[in-house]
Amino acid sequence: MSTIKTAKGVLYELKKQGYEAYIVGGAVRDYKLRMPINDVDVTTNAKPFQVSKIFRTIPTGIKYGTVTVKFKDEQFEVTTYRIDGEYKDDRHPDQVVYSESVIEDVKRRDFTINGLLMNEKQEVIDHVEGLKDLQDKLIRTIGDPYQRFNEDALRMLRAFYFQSKLGFQIEKETRDAIEALRDKLKNVAMERIVNELIKTIQGVHLKKALKSMVTTKVHEVLPGLKKGIEHILEMEEMPYVDPFFVLCFALNDGVVPQAWTFSNKHRHRYQQAAELANMTTTFDAIHLYTYGIDLCTLANKVNYMLGRSKNLKDYIEKTYHSLPIQSELDLKLRATEMIEITGKKAGAWLKDIQQEMVLKILRKELKNDKDVLKTYLIEHIK
Ligand code: ATP
Ligand code: MG
Repeated sequence: MSTIKTAKGVLYELKKQGYEAYIVGGAVRDYKLRMPINDVDVTTNAKPFQVSKIFRTIPTGIKYGTVTVKFKDEQFEVTTYRIDGEYKDDRHPDQVVYSESVIEDVKRRDFTINGLLMNEKQEVIDHVEGLKDLQDKLIRTIGDPYQRFNEDALRMLRAFYFQSKLGFQIEKETRDAIEALRDKLKNVAMERIVNELIKTIQGVHLKKALKSMVTTKVHEVLPGLKKGIEHILEMEEMPYVDPFFVLCFALNDGVVPQAWTFSNKHRHRYQQAAELANMTTTFDAIHLYTYGIDLCTLANKVNYMLGRSKNLKDYIEKTYHSLPIQSELDLKLRATEMIEITGKKAGAWLKDIQQEMVLKILRKELKNDKDVLKTYLIEHIK
């Protein structure tokens, strides 16, 4: 957490030591927009080692000239003025080159609305015509958009993120450049794409951003999302992150493309929910037992958004909580007892018969009762 008020203290301390320092980026933009401020970043001509002499610091991004400063129980990312070097792989600036000029530092930033500065007197300083674009509600690259997107293609996705967050329009030349260069997104590290995309999905103006993705055809270069995005665009209410991805992957034949670098947990969840949504629109005891309440609810939500079924949330909850059995471990006849009764060694037969019993209990064809299960076991085991 960090605030402008405390950040001004950081600026004062740096100035006192003879350095220049400004608040920069999102905090100044959101301050002008009277929106809640995420975190406050500071840009300065002091080098990281010099910053470390003044404050308690953590070397969070030394490679990029960034240290995290702890000041009055708040944390600030303090970055030395930079000019970014060649962008060889559309991913990372090849090297960090420090600059003596704050103007050079703001010119390397992505959009005009993100290039505003604020001094310790809380005056906003604009070297990039960002104030005008804030007024006009425009997302426009600083400098030639073709060049800026060639340097770092992720900026194209960031344009949609800011659109989703702020509801602004993407300025025409910037938008044209995105359409022309959209294939370059394929060279961007997938982790960075996932990051911006998730932030985009969480924005209040998601629909606007999705519309722009479709007009610029960017949705076609995001693996497996094309049909989903086109569908979501027609919906009234926008989905949260999980239903967003599950809906997309359900429409992608239930496949989560390998390219996506979700955590294993998330990949598995999206995969299962998308398959489940395509498998059924009615959730019976066996689905609930096999997939659990959470995946079934998610799959139903997606089917509802796809117009395939009603919202069955209450029904799913009720059915789940009245399942006659929730796990193999709930069988009233234990595995050890089964081994004893049959005189057989533990093996595949055990799992098979347990599963059989569970299914029959779920279908209400068998009672989960010790004697009943004993009889069933004796009758069904050779
Ligand atoms: P948020 O409200 O999401 O934090 P932000 O504007 O602070 O928005 P960050 O991703 O936190 O965005 O980045 C901080 C600042 O760094 C941006 O405002 C911008 O000036 C600069 N920046 C970030 N990513 C890039 C990039 N890929 N290319 C150029 N400048 C960038
Ligand atoms: Mg930020």
